[in-house]
Amino acid sequence: MHSDEQKEQKLNCGQEQLSRLSCARMRTTLSAILVVLLASGGVGQLTTVPSAKSVEATLDSKEQELERLYASYWQIQYQLEQDATSVSDKDVNRKIRDVISDPEFLHTLKVAHLEDPVLQRRRQLFLEVAADSQISTDTDLVTLVESIRRDGSTIRYKIGGKLLDRPELDNVLGHEVDRDVRRQAWYAQAELTKLTGDRICEVMKLRNQLGPRYAGEHFSDFMLRRRATNRQELLSWFEQIRTSTEPEYRALLSRMQRELRVEKLEPWDLEYYFSTLSPELESKLGLEGAWKRTTKVAGLLGFDFSRLPVDVKITDITFGGYTMPIWYGKEIKLLVSKHTGIRFADTILHESGHALHFSFVQEPTFILRDNYPPPMDEGLGQTMSLMMFRPEIATTVYGLSSDEASILNERRRLESNYSLRVLMVQSEFELEAYDNPQQDFTVLYDRVCSKYLDVDCHQSNTWGYDPFYAAIPIYQQNYVLAEMFAYQVHHTLDQRFGRNWGREGGSYLHDKFLIRGGSLTLDQIMQQGTGEGLSAKYLVAALKAQPTGAAAKSESK
Ligand SMILES: [Zn+2]
Repeated sequence: MHSDEQKEQKLNCGQEQLSRLSCARMRTTLSAILVVLLASGGVGQLTTVPSAKSVEATLDSKEQELERLYASYWQIQYQLEQDATSVSDKDVNRKIRDVISDPEFLHTLKVAHLEDPVLQRRRQLFLEVAADSQISTDTDLVTLVESIRRDGSTIRYKIGGKLLDRPELDNVLGHEVDRDVRRQAWYAQAELTKLTGDRICEVMKLRNQLGPRYAGEHFSDFMLRRRATNRQELLSWFEQIRTSTEPEYRALLSRMQRELRVEKLEPWDLEYYFSTLSPELESKLGLEGAWKRTTKVAGLLGFDFSRLPVDVKITDITFGGYTMPIWYGKEIKLLVSKHTGIRFADTILHESGHALHFSFVQEPTFILRDNYPPPMDEGLGQTMSLMMFRPEIATTVYGLSSDEASILNERRRLESNYSLRVLMVQSEFELEAYDNPQQDFTVLYDRVCSKYLDVDCHQSNTWGYDPFYAAIPIYQQNYVLAEMFAYQVHHTLDQRFGRNWGREGGSYLHDKFLIRGGSLTLDQIMQQGTGEGLSAKYLVAALKAQPTGAAAKSESK
């Protein structure tokens, strides 16, 4: 259950972005043409160097307009999640696009002399938002991405005479006891690559053309910067995580091999293995009272959800969880699917982290509130989700015995050793694919897959099964960074406030992280909050740590 849960939860987080992108998608067909006109010298001559005051005034009014439009955009998304037929977001998407894609203003903004650092930051973010929007709303790109999405949702996978949809196939990969059926399911992922792989490749080539045109740099470099990171740092963290947890990962593989009683581990064994660990804990963490427990965890930190502008609905939606910032600080809506067990408890905690962030963010203007570093926002979700795995909280709030609490913790450690490697495979493959979309992706994927997972990946051509490549480019590294963020923040709070952080710890979390948006860079936020830049060492330590009792117990099962 747990491995599925994480995958789903991660897709949710992506889904938040996906909806935003599909909105962004509609924004600029016109502007592509207009920007070309602009570049050929039309508008530039009309303007002398604009005054900072007039630029600021226009920026103010555009940001206020955007805040208002996004409020109705999110209201509509909220309705769409629950009843897809009632409303359409077409109109609001068009209006948002018109506000952002204003070529004359974009030009003015670029050339203006601004001395105020806040104003400089707002300019930088506004221009990045505009470039992002111009790329993602390119008409050919939108058409391709949409056709890939459609084929991805209608395809059925043939397994043992049955036709399965995506959730069913995922379920087989995660839970099916029959190894041969799992093998078939593993290879069936390549059906989607066969159907859409060429188009995904086209999408990448197209983005490579659009990147220099609108952002003035390589697409993947631009997107990594938008996501508050860069390639050099990212790849060195990946390398650090991979090499320093190699012994733990090897140990995990031999343990899998022993407990599953197989001669040679195959890719279709890995995810399944986690469903065999401590299934008895699942029933202990039922649906009943999950939100109440989440509010108790927040309460320990002095956060009172009954006094925050957060509306929670437990319902049936496509994805596990979805938190919407209708108005930052004023109206936050949180939807969570009805699930049970660890998955549900974990998802709802993660979403509460987003909700706290969206409630508390303190920035002078909308563009600064809305353009926080994504690894921090996902990281705040993970900071809350990690709370459940702290024995002090698992035993008091979640009612587990201390043995159960350490088993839960150990299970998360084992599973993270695997799931973080999967994320690194997906992310590294993607970066190398953008470097050279002409190359043979089957060979590329096989190389990256065996490098991290240490099993024969059988040239199985499964890369096209990952829905992020077409829909949400250069995003999956955020989940690795979010995990680094969460462990680093937990470490800092432990150092300052001991194991029970209390209200003081909550205030610290509030002042150093939850109020942050786009004014500071991720590095500045980490420096001010933890005394050092974002680091992989606390994550690595957590992946290695082996609480003695739990390890011995699950070994002997
Ligand atoms: Zn999230």
